[in-house]
Amino acid sequence: MWFKMINESFVCENCHNEITQHPEWSARNHCPFCLYSKHMDDNFPGDRASKCHWLMIPVDIDYKKNKWNMIKHKCTKCGKEILNKVAPDDEFLEFIKKRNKMI
Ligand SMILES: [Zn+2]
Ligand SMILES: [Zn+2]
Repeated sequence: MWFKMINESFVCENCHNEITQHPEWSARNHCPFCLYSKHMDDNFPGDRASKCHWLMIPVDIDYKKNKWNMIKHKCTKCGKEILNKVAPDDEFLEFIKKRNKMI
């Protein structure tokens, strides 16, 4: 389901960092600094079919050994949850550390 992938740069609406293109083949769908995302996809990652476009906050992580790590994003408007693959340059470990401190 990885058709219609758009690899684009954008400015994060949460932390206002400029996000460059994904270092690999994948579409960048979340900020590597704060891990916030935007509700762009409807059914599949990269389909850009959603008309919501609100900020999605990282609510959970799915840490799978020897597999892709996934971030669960939740839309601040409609509440839709989407699992996203972690990008190689994400501040993913920082997010885990912060999260562990909160618990
Ligand atoms: Zn950000
Ligand atoms: Zn939404």
